[in-house]
Amino acid sequence: MPEKQTKQVKRCICQECEKVFYALSLKAKWCSKKCENANYRKNRKPQAELEKLYLQQQAMQENSNAQQQS
Ligand SMILES: [Zn+2]
Repeated sequence: MPEKQTKQVKRCICQECEKVFYALSLKAKWCSKKCENANYRKNRKPQAELEKLYLQQQAMQENSNAQQQS
């Protein structure tokens, strides 16, 4: 396999701190691991909210089960 293809450097804006940074990957969204982690934490829902969603989900599943049985 010839490795001719030179990687293109992309100019990106960090989605966390909005700093300009340069990356070889198109998928890069953050300037650093620190920003990636900060963003991950921000997007994570609090446990209470997740529990509510889980209960809703369970109720919906029970509903559809009941409908299938009748
Ligand atoms: Zn950043």
